Amino acid sequence: MEKADTPLQDVEARIAKACKIAGRQRSDVTLVAISKTYDSDAIIPLIDEGHRTFGENRVQEAQGKWPALRERHGDIALHMVGQLQSNKAEDAAALFDCIHALDRPSLVKALGKAFDKVGRQVPCFIQVDIGEEEQKGGVAIKQLEALIAQARDADIPLLGLMCVPPLEVEPTPYFALLSKLAQDNGLAGLSMGMSSDFETAVKLGATHVRVGSALFGARD
Ligand SMILES: *Cc1c(COP(=O)(O)O)cnc(C)c1O
Repeated sequence: MEKADTPLQDVEARIAKACKIAGRQRSDVTLVAISKTYDSDAIIPLIDEGHRTFGENRVQEAQGKWPALRERHGDIALHMVGQLQSNKAEDAAALFDCIHALDRPSLVKALGKAFDKVGRQVPCFIQVDIGEEEQKGGVAIKQLEALIAQARDADIPLLGLMCVPPLEVEPTPYFALLSKLAQDNGLAGLSMGMSSDFETAVKLGATHVRVGSALFGARD
């Protein structure tokens, strides 16, 4: 009997297929495995399968798990995908290799300072409130241009834009809008697509997909 695919193999195959359909290279898409709420025992198998890019949404949780995991495996990239409080900017700058949720002027200021202090310029995505749902975070579309200018003034390396579209509606128009906003502002990166819609996101140009439950199982 053939061995069943692991969740990672399954997600990888689906990304590869979406890339093929879209005429894109697999290497143009980074799979960020979102390990929030899962402990090291659940994460180690993915690392052992060769996966190296992970994401968390809370600074404190990440600080508890990742130093030890990184000691086992040196070349791991850790992404911060959740809302970031300004008073955690320095901790985030020290721990993460990429920040996906830059969404307000006060955080631009805090991160600018933190990067100088820690001595690392961590690449960032600006999160856009693409569905006009304030509670999810993200800068309002009409304030996006100003925030990009502020981030550039503060020498924050900008990879691109990130969004979390409204739940349970067709995500395509939101992904397409994010892509247009990025293009209008000269940004190449698109962090979009989660477990339920990453293939659609890849077809619409995602450079980073953030996949949690499809890899680790449903969270409580
Ligand atoms: C939890 C989370 C994800 C992953 O969600 P899944 O539906 O489990 O794939 C992606 N992005 C952000 C910002 C998250 O908080």
